[in-house]
Amino acid sequence: MGVWLVELPSRGRWNGCVWDGAQQSVPEEWQRFSPELALGERWARGGNSFEQSLNDSAGNPVVGPLLGMKRAVWAPIEGDGDREGILMAAWRAGPQALPRAEAESVAADLALALGYQRLEFAAREQARDLAFARQILSEGRGAVNGPEQLRRIVSAGAEQAGVGFICVGHVQNSGKALPAWCGPSPEWAAHLDSGPLAELWRRALITGQMTGCEHPAALPAEGFVRWAALPVRRAGNVLGVLVAGLRPQGCTLATLEGLELRAALAADFLAEWTTEEQKAQYGLEERERVEASPAALVLLDESNAIAAASPSARQLLAAAATGTAIPSFTGLLRNTHAASSWLAAARSGSDTRLFEAELLAGKRIRARTLFQGHGSGGLLLEVTAVETPAGPLRPSERELRALVDWMEQGVVIFGAQRRIAAINRRFSELTGLPYEDVRALASLDELLERFSAVAENPEEAAQHWRELVEHEQGAVREEVRLAKPVARVLERAGRPIQDDSGARTGWLEIYRDVQAGRMFQTRWLQTEKLAGIGQMVSGIAHELSSPLTSILGYTHLLRRGKDGAREEVEMIHREAERAHRMLRQLLESGRETAPQRKAVSVNHLVQRAMELRALGKASHRICVEVDLDPAAPLVEGDEDQILQVVTNLIANAEQAMEASGSFAGTIRVSTRLSEGGGVRLEVADDGPGIPPALMQRIFEPFFTTKPAGVGTGLGLAIVMEIARAHGGQVHAANRSEGGAVFTVELPGTKKAFGSPLMARPAKDPAPASARPALPAVKGRALVVEDEPTVARLIADV
Ligand code: ADP
Repeated sequence: MGVWLVELPSRGRWNGCVWDGAQQSVPEEWQRFSPELALGERWARGGNSFEQSLNDSAGNPVVGPLLGMKRAVWAPIEGDGDREGILMAAWRAGPQALPRAEAESVAADLALALGYQRLEFAAREQARDLAFARQILSEGRGAVNGPEQLRRIVSAGAEQAGVGFICVGHVQNSGKALPAWCGPSPEWAAHLDSGPLAELWRRALITGQMTGCEHPAALPAEGFVRWAALPVRRAGNVLGVLVAGLRPQGCTLATLEGLELRAALAADFLAEWTTEEQKAQYGLEERERVEASPAALVLLDESNAIAAASPSARQLLAAAATGTAIPSFTGLLRNTHAASSWLAAARSGSDTRLFEAELLAGKRIRARTLFQGHGSGGLLLEVTAVETPAGPLRPSERELRALVDWMEQGVVIFGAQRRIAAINRRFSELTGLPYEDVRALASLDELLERFSAVAENPEEAAQHWRELVEHEQGAVREEVRLAKPVARVLERAGRPIQDDSGARTGWLEIYRDVQAGRMFQTRWLQTEKLAGIGQMVSGIAHELSSPLTSILGYTHLLRRGKDGAREEVEMIHREAERAHRMLRQLLESGRETAPQRKAVSVNHLVQRAMELRALGKASHRICVEVDLDPAAPLVEGDEDQILQVVTNLIANAEQAMEASGSFAGTIRVSTRLSEGGGVRLEVADDGPGIPPALMQRIFEPFFTTKPAGVGTGLGLAIVMEIARAHGGQVHAANRSEGGAVFTVELPGTKKAFGSPLMARPAKDPAPASARPALPAVKGRALVVEDEPTVARLIADV
């Protein structure tokens, strides 16, 4: 009996053992086995066990162990679909029936044992890697800062994994200089800097991949068989290279994975060193530049200590500084607290660019940030002396108004006795009060009268506003809610105005529109979400498209038959076609393809819209009158998009009428040949009409006056977008007799497209009976299609 196993990692040679019942010992060379030679063809066929009769072995060479045998059974040992070895049992005077099943079961047991051994080995390797990673993590990253620690990290547990040599080189100066090696003895460091090993790690750096080679003969043997080099990278930057010498037991996939783990850890540490080095370097250059500058520059470190100052800055600040060392910038100033918060704001990149302060010595300075937020945490300031003006500036009221009018925000300035000193145009725009009225207002009381018409809670708001203007001593920032013309929120920032002695002389208010920002944000989130859903939908659409194609194909085939259920099949076919069209639209909207351009009859689309409407709701109390002009030309465009225009406008009209409590109005949809030779589509309703103040805004995306869940504010924006894409325009107006009317003008097509009245859907293909019979052909067609049902359908057809 003999068993031979494929030897790892070189699969050419097999090793095994042979037991002979009649002899005590067997020749040693029987341990080697070459299946191709011994079994030839039969081996190549693989798979099953087989019997061999050795009487007529003329064709086959007989391997040593079979000499003198009569019959043999061979059973392959297979694990994971791979041949792992073979089992042989032979008889000198064979039994009648060979125990082939038994041989197979022993072979299977062996395969199982081998698999288990492999798993155990992998588990051991993994456990070792885990132990290694745990050890590194438990040391804590902060503790590892020197080359010695890095060497310790990468070499921990390496010897057990079959790695006889390991070291990391820190690639500096973008690889122009040799790496600084962590760990190797001087002799090995020399081998790494030049010769075959240097070639190896350079290749790894150039290709960016793990690279390996046989152990070079020129190097001391020391039990190495192979070498591997891995680039140490972080975020696309090469920071170093890891070189490892492997012993025979280290030539496994698990060891290479372990090396990758070590390289990743090394990348962590090298990345930290690199930024530290750069920071130190950067700080030095920056300091030198500041000290050489002719401008008055001060460089502060993160704790606001002065890291460097130019000569003129020193001169400016010197009066307050004791000695040559200036400890802290804020310490030089009278109002330390304000200075610190200004510096913090400057660091965070807020808009605060200028700051005025008084030095302890009494001189006033102005500071400006030049740049901030570098790796060093530094902040570069330019300081200038402020000349105190002879007297306070008193801009005339006219100048004040001009200034205020120019501002982006709404501004109201109150003087004594609630008098309005200035009020600007933006304030009137934000509140929706006409500017002509607003600018004529003289006092808060007059303003409150107007304001009560738009405020959400007029009485309360008025009382609070009076309180602010007359008595508030501090700064306030609050919301002001308006109810008309649409609900919106403004932000009011107010603060008292004081004279030089600190007495309260008035009240200043600045208004901002926060609604727009908020709306935008929530809409944006919604849009993001929609985009996500869109992606999902287009995925689903893609999946559904194959089964639908099959359904369509088979119903198509069935329709030709003379079955009784023809009508039902017809129905299935129509519905499947509809679903298919929807899917195509979904897929196209996902793909953002250009809209289709073909001759479209707007009349036909209005009729389709009416059919859809009839399908949508069981009962309509709102009646729709349709008046189509047969002379209306075709337009060149996308059917589905123009259909959407019609349905959106009808839906809006319906909603407007329902919202006003009228459930019995009339919507009139009409088409006409327009003056320009195109189509003029009108949708008129007798609902409440559009408030004039909103007329300008209704086409804005996301503008809606309807409650959440009803309105998206997209309907008219889409109508506008589609009309424009078709070279047309949309217009909204109120009818003199009440209600709104939307007019869409679309240019007529220049091309001749058959009947101008109505574009008919394509005719069904001629019935089977009308077609010439196909000659009977004998043969085969090969259908290649990745979707099995579609492939079958094609084959059936
Ligand atoms: P939505 O219908 O989702 O609110 P639209 O863009 O279609 O979004 O419409 C914007 C706004 O225009 C509506 O909220 C409504 O105030 C106004 N509007 C549209 N159509 C009419 C109409 N026929 N009558 C009165 N108001 C209308």
